[in-house]
Amino acid sequence: MSEIVSKLPQVGTTIFSVMSALASEHNALNLSQGFPDFPAPQSLLDDLNRHAQAGRNQYPPMSGAAELRQALAELIKRSYQRQVCPDREITITSGATEGLFVAIHTLVNPGDEVIVFDPAYDSYEPAVTLAGGHCRHIPLAAPDFRPDWQQVVDSINPRTRCIIVNSPHNPSATVFSQADWLQLQQIVIDNNLFLISDEVYEHIVFDNHPRLSANRFEALAQRSFIVSSFGKTFHCTGWKTGYCVAPSALTTEFRKIHQYVTFASFAPAQYALADMLNHQPQHIEQLGAFYQQRRDRFATALASSRLKLLPSAGTYFMLADYSAISELGDIEFCQWLTQHAGVAAIPLSVFYQTPPQSRIIRFCFAKQDATLDQAAEKLCRL
Ligand code: PMP
Ligand code: GLN
Repeated sequence: MSEIVSKLPQVGTTIFSVMSALASEHNALNLSQGFPDFPAPQSLLDDLNRHAQAGRNQYPPMSGAAELRQALAELIKRSYQRQVCPDREITITSGATEGLFVAIHTLVNPGDEVIVFDPAYDSYEPAVTLAGGHCRHIPLAAPDFRPDWQQVVDSINPRTRCIIVNSPHNPSATVFSQADWLQLQQIVIDNNLFLISDEVYEHIVFDNHPRLSANRFEALAQRSFIVSSFGKTFHCTGWKTGYCVAPSALTTEFRKIHQYVTFASFAPAQYALADMLNHQPQHIEQLGAFYQQRRDRFATALASSRLKLLPSAGTYFMLADYSAISELGDIEFCQWLTQHAGVAAIPLSVFYQTPPQSRIIRFCFAKQDATLDQAAEKLCRL
């Protein structure tokens, strides 16, 4: 029998599955994979049930439920003062993961290069590889993880096709400034590139930092696939519902691929999310404060620990340097921490092509107060 030739020979099981399985095996508090341990809003669950009971269980339109695309266009107008056409510029996807995969396949042809910043979310590179492209990794360094835009310019060559950015950033919890966005816009225009902007944490920013998005920069948005997810915003990561905003010509190509990857995603969730956006706008307005309070509770509870916490400006993640506790590498340390201290975290090095010599791990603080307090108590004993 002939053998399968792996298209992704370097790829194993994602760190998120590995750490969550280890956490459950050892009954550890799971601060590794990013998901809330509290419920989605009750009204959202009621709406989901109502739409399913009302029979909205057949295929929604390939581009997504019209109600949801309309509600998103209004959200984008409210949040970023940008008018987008719900029919021609918004597509509902099966999570941001599908949106990113399809955007990458829309843009990348064999031999093309894609610039990514390390630490990079783990789904980008496999998608680029499957499209026949290559990632050019630009490393960002702790503690501020700021891109050096001159280095970006220096990395561009005739094969460069697009740049992938993620702000607020997983795992570093940093957020692009206005100046970062403006420099990025200039580079994309000057070099005739495209942008894939992964904005799944778009509404989770702290300390009164403005909510920025590629949607705020019109000339950039004209060359962008802006991908986001309802999972982070509405505490329902398992619903795997997201969306992609792109100019009409780009959306047309995007949908040619989307229609043969999933065609459409779970219908009742789309109608329920439209209700949520229309009737509970305060949920998004309060989301930054909601998570800032959790960030601060966790940081305060860890103040007497030997972990050195790095600043978290957005997302629901926080990095911590454990050099004062252990000399283990971060992967081994995360295994040890899960097995012996009862707290699971994610090593930072797995998000790099060339891992730095740091001892840094990522905690997810999208957790109930009791979970955060118990985890901090265990970590303070180290
Ligand atoms: N991008 C980033 C940076 C993420 O952290 C995640 C998810 N957790 C995703 C994309 C994927 O989002 P989704 O779960 O909606 O597919
Ligand atoms: N994005 C989530 C995280 O960073 C994990 C998503 C997944 O497990 N695929 O933890």
